[in-house]
Amino acid sequence: MRAVVMHAPGDVRVEERADPTITRPTDAIIRLAASCICGSDLWPYRGDDAVDHTPMGHEYVGVVTEIGDKVSQVKVGDFVVGSFFASDNTCEICQAGYQSRCIHAYPMGAIGTQAEYALIPMADGTLVATPGAPDPELIPSLLAASDVLGTGWFAAVAAEAGPGKTVAVVGDGAVGLLGILAARELGAERIIAMSRHADRQALAREFGATDIVEERGDAGVARIKELTGGYGAHSVIEAVGTQESMMQAIRATRAGGHVGYVGVSHDVSLDGLELFFSGVHLHGGPAPVRRFLPELIQLIWDRKIDPGKVFDLTLPLDEAAEGYRAMDERRATKVLLTV
Ligand SMILES: [Zn+2]
Repeated sequence: MRAVVMHAPGDVRVEERADPTITRPTDAIIRLAASCICGSDLWPYRGDDAVDHTPMGHEYVGVVTEIGDKVSQVKVGDFVVGSFFASDNTCEICQAGYQSRCIHAYPMGAIGTQAEYALIPMADGTLVATPGAPDPELIPSLLAASDVLGTGWFAAVAAEAGPGKTVAVVGDGAVGLLGILAARELGAERIIAMSRHADRQALAREFGATDIVEERGDAGVARIKELTGGYGAHSVIEAVGTQESMMQAIRATRAGGHVGYVGVSHDVSLDGLELFFSGVHLHGGPAPVRRFLPELIQLIWDRKIDPGKVFDLTLPLDEAAEGYRAMDERRATKVLLTV
């Protein structure tokens, strides 16, 4: 099969790799209907994470082509969506809704789903079948559910977005934009998008943002305070993962408020005393997308949400290198790869 491999930072290639095979009775194999490039794939691309001939990709939707003897919840021919972490969905952590930290959690990024086929460990716990074969127009939205929508949704839930709340969103990548959509669906009264890119501001408004703040850092925090009667937002979504974005999120939150942080943390350190006096709740981490998949799939199936709009560039898998370049240069928010 063809698959994307990152040889070194900035060096993305599409190569022939062996087709996956079932090795455990709980495995399944899917043929991908589409794959995509994640904002987090840019960390190794830019040399911020180690990379050495690494298979890439952790988002996926597709059709089950083979199952192990012990798989009973999905069958060959099902169209399925799964999270970027495989999980058993039965342990105490999973039962509590934190499948991305399952005691048997396995990162799909170690398998690489920017490929024609993918092995899915713990298929019964990992995959959720759609109600039927989807219309092709639904595939981008179902693919978004695999990570960026599920992550934005978790961020909004962790930030306790809801009726009567003012929600601020730090980060205008795909996750931040879908955090806006999630906050709207959860009933937030006011949603402030922090963005300085006109095209992303437009999509933010379409997804439910009521206000846009272009300032960053301390100036951005001051603007949020100004818009909220000096209090700060009730709920803040952090969807970047840098020191600046994390501090912006904490400082923009009112005392007693909640920060939902889902940007993969890179060199962030928090000052204990500032945290102590902030009086905010911090909750985040790798989103337990599996918790939300049944609900998100249904919302997409019923055409109540259209998260697939975050894909603003579609390329064939063979042109993955151009997709990485486009995202790195911010010419694209999120790239869908057809397979
Ligand atoms: Zn588990």
